[in-house]
Amino acid sequence: MEFNKEQQIIGLRVLSDNVIWLWKNDKYVVVIDPALSQPVKEYLKANDLKLEAILQTHHHSDHIGGTKELIHEWPNVKVIASAKEKDRIPFQNLSVKHGDKLKLLDEEVEVIEVIGHTRSHLAFYFNNETPVLFVGDTLFSAGCGRVFEGTYKQMYNSLKKIKSLPKNTLIYCAHEYTKSNLLWALDIEPENQTLKKKLIEVKKKIALKELTIPFLLKEELKINLFLRADNLKRFSYLRANKDSWV
Ligand code: ZN
Ligand code: FE
Repeated sequence: MEFNKEQQIIGLRVLSDNVIWLWKNDKYVVVIDPALSQPVKEYLKANDLKLEAILQTHHHSDHIGGTKELIHEWPNVKVIASAKEKDRIPFQNLSVKHGDKLKLLDEEVEVIEVIGHTRSHLAFYFNNETPVLFVGDTLFSAGCGRVFEGTYKQMYNSLKKIKSLPKNTLIYCAHEYTKSNLLWALDIEPENQTLKKKLIEVKKKIALKELTIPFLLKEELKINLFLRADNLKRFSYLRANKDSWV
């Protein structure tokens, strides 16, 4: 998306379904969850850009896999990650916690802890004219992250935090899972016309090789069963159902 003349967010597709996000102005780039280094390096070199910072939402290899190589290439880059993950994200040089505020690309970025997928998962929020949230593996379009290390309750509360952001927040997640999430949601609510419409839109985008991300919080609140779950019991039922859905 384009905020104004100077800033943009670009998605690089890598591996089977990961997206590396590059948030850039005309000189510098902040990369979010670089699964791999090569496509990032190529993009920066082709566009004569410098790497200012790497944001790490969590320690999984499909999010930090490219970081070491990028540090090698840009030794002064800030590597921002949870202070709770010094062991599992050892190359971090700017350790942060919930509520911290950072200055990146001359914008203020707020750290929001969203536990559940892992015990210390972070999201990064900047309250621009169009607010933007980089959410890693916590929320996907029509889905949410698997609960690997936290509890259902923690994940439910993390989604609540996301729901409390401005409705025009544009959300950038780290995986293109939208279509399969919608197919699952339609298994749960086969008569849901909003989901059916969304699936048609998503299939069109995929046929055109376009990303279905980012998505607007306002729109997501209509189609995401996890965000719509208004109590922990319902959320837990859905999450367990999705875990065993094939
Ligand atoms: Zn993950
Ligand atoms: Fe992931």
